[in-house]
Amino acid sequence: MIELKDVYKTYPNGVLAVDGINVKIRQGEFVYVVGPSGAGKSTFIKMMYREEKPSKGAILINGMDLSHMKDKKVPLLRRNIGVVFQDYKLLPTLSVYENIAFALEVIEENPKTIKKRVMEVLDLVKLKHKARFLPTELSGGEQQRVSIARSIVNKPQVVIADEPTGNLDPETTWEIMDIFKEINDRGTTIVMATHNKDIVNTIKRRVIAIEAGKIVRDQARGVYGYES
Ligand code: ADP
Ligand code: ADP
Repeated sequence: MIELKDVYKTYPNGVLAVDGINVKIRQGEFVYVVGPSGAGKSTFIKMMYREEKPSKGAILINGMDLSHMKDKKVPLLRRNIGVVFQDYKLLPTLSVYENIAFALEVIEENPKTIKKRVMEVLDLVKLKHKARFLPTELSGGEQQRVSIARSIVNKPQVVIADEPTGNLDPETTWEIMDIFKEINDRGTTIVMATHNKDIVNTIKRRVIAIEAGKIVRDQARGVYGYES
């Protein structure tokens, strides 16, 4: 479970990006985070994987308190949280296989397990046949599928995605959403910031709307609610 209690974030330049957020997300939920540009969505999401620290308040993820977590514990947290970015962030000199295996190699998982797990997630994202390709040899949608495979190879309980379809065409976007749905169906919590009105209004899930750093709407099967 994810819980934010009275969370505030002021950046060093004085910008108040998150202004008193209280929210609970249960294991297995699928949550969209929506709102205008500059509303604080990325900041909200970054605090969940400890990319940013809250200035005030508590952030609990599966019993771990991120607000008091020592920096040396952050790698342990990241093993329990998969992260997917708009720009994929794949390592350009590594193959698809190596990009995904990397997360397991750093925790010194045994080679047999690594191979099995990498092939399982490549199968899930339907990219087994491109295991030896470099990221530059893939389309944008394929790169995002690799990045999703990498995010789940550790079997995290939570996957956090910041605008994962922001650079993709509509058809590819739906393919990527099918993969997130599948991952969620297997029990993984998904928290996804998005500007994609069609997705939010079609694949109906919980919607948390943020404006000026505050939650202004929280609906179980919500709508996008903005013009885009
Ligand atoms: P969103 O993801 O909804 O567009 P952000 O969380 O990126 O919103 O930004 C919220 C506010 O915080 C904006 O005013 C933005 O300019 C500011 N902000 C974001 N990141 C930083 C940063 N690293 N330093 C200073 N201000 C920031
Ligand atoms: P998109 O239609 O999304 O722009 P591309 O035209 O870039 O996709 O790629 C179409 C297909 O060709 C993809 O399956 C991709 O993996 C493959 N491909 C693209 N560039 C290369 C390359 N340099 N070497 C091998 N395969 C490639």
